[in-house]
Amino acid sequence: MADDIDFDLQFVAAHETPVLIAPGVERVTANNPSPFTFQGTNSYIVGPGSTVAVIDPGPDDPLHFEALMAALGPRRVSHIFVSHTHRDHSPLATRLSAETGALTVGEGPHRASRLLHVGEINPLAESADLNFKPDIAIADDGVIEGDGWALSAIHTPGHTANHCAFALSGSGILFSADHVMVWATTIVAPPDGSMADFMRSVERLLSRDDQIFFPGHGGPVREPRAFLRGLRAHRRMRERAVLERIKAGDRLIPQMVTAIYARTDVRLHGAAALSVLAHLEDLVEKGLVTTDGPPSLMGEYRPA
Ligand SMILES: [Zn+2]
Repeated sequence: MADDIDFDLQFVAAHETPVLIAPGVERVTANNPSPFTFQGTNSYIVGPGSTVAVIDPGPDDPLHFEALMAALGPRRVSHIFVSHTHRDHSPLATRLSAETGALTVGEGPHRASRLLHVGEINPLAESADLNFKPDIAIADDGVIEGDGWALSAIHTPGHTANHCAFALSGSGILFSADHVMVWATTIVAPPDGSMADFMRSVERLLSRDDQIFFPGHGGPVREPRAFLRGLRAHRRMRERAVLERIKAGDRLIPQMVTAIYARTDVRLHGAAALSVLAHLEDLVEKGLVTTDGPPSLMGEYRPA
């Protein structure tokens, strides 16, 4: 989706087969590839001992459930961490928790990043898992210790309001979920997502010194700080592109999408429209763009 970031599309998923990616860390990728999930959702099994944690059990898919149980073998699961409540990440938590007795851990239930405007229909309702409610609502910087592992939560809203990354103590590993991925930029789509939140969460991770990110889709981010700086520059460039389209006379989001995303898969243009809206919300908030009423997909935008 962008030429200015060093994306890595070489990842080849071993669907439903555990892959040891670091000491005490296995990845099991679900077989749910799509333009939004790349090769599928990565579930992670974390811990060196006989009782482990699972991060992002994934979609409610019986084959992925069987694959996770087979990968776990005789090991117990004490905790199931959920990065955010999209249908490709959290739904299997319910069945896995029922089967293993593990406690679920997450920031909180699904919610939008802001109140819905009067008459606004949430175009993202289908993508959300509204059933997930964590047994443990973990605070920012909250830590959960298990059998030879400790995971801390880094609240990283932007992709969703309840998005969390998880840092594995003493390893330099951060499970970055859908906030930072190496194959594409994250979808930031209102009202569930927020560009201002997303940019703050990028700064938050830049203030840390994690050595490698394991994301929710695709392979690892091996130089996270450089990659984060690239993401930040990319979003600023996109913001300038939106502003320039408005200065050039575009008033409607579809006009801006056609111009800015000319080389993007048209299946992603709906998501691109929401991404432009995310920038417009931010630009209106900053006083650089005006529109009548709250920013919306149908709105007309003018230079302030
Ligand atoms: Zn997601």
